[in-house]
Amino acid sequence: MVSLEELLEFLPRTDCGQCGLTCAEFGAKLLSRELRPEDCPVLHEPDFAGFIEALHELLGVPVAAPPPMEIDPEKCNGCGICVAMCEYHLGNCPEARLGRGPRLGDNVVFHIVNGVAVVVRQDLCTRMLQAAEKCNKCADHCPTEAISFKQ
Ligand code: SF4
Ligand code: SF4
Ligand code: SF4
Repeated sequence: MVSLEELLEFLPRTDCGQCGLTCAEFGAKLLSRELRPEDCPVLHEPDFAGFIEALHELLGVPVAAPPPMEIDPEKCNGCGICVAMCEYHLGNCPEARLGRGPRLGDNVVFHIVNGVAVVVRQDLCTRMLQAAEKCNKCADHCPTEAISFKQ
């Protein structure tokens, strides 16, 4: 079985905090299958091309359930409306309640990375915690219909 040290070889190891964790903590959640490699927004940057695939290979065929939320990067224009309107952000990020969006370091469902919205902590989405029909705000407010849900 793959070790945490092996996974860390393919994580940025900057402890930037965008996932709400340190890189080592993120790696531990990869091992326990609570998070997926693509949940680290930094790994979507060009400098880390191939790292997500490498992590999947190390972890073996992972991730039982398909991700329920998807953002189509071809449709997303990076406007940030989803980040500003997200029910979880409004309830948990003080700056978001003031209309300024969450701050770097806040736990967030998604972030804008290189001009595109990227899911960071899907597990925080209200849909994952409560009945799905209770929230659809991000998809409803997205001007390009880039957000879709599988459940
Ligand atoms: S977002 Fe990525 S680089 Fe930043 S702390 Fe989490 S795992 Fe590390
Ligand atoms: S609201 Fe839609 S277009 Fe705007 S950043 Fe979010 S996903 Fe992209
Ligand atoms: S569905 Fe989830 S990600 Fe979208 S606005 Fe609601 S809580 Fe945020």
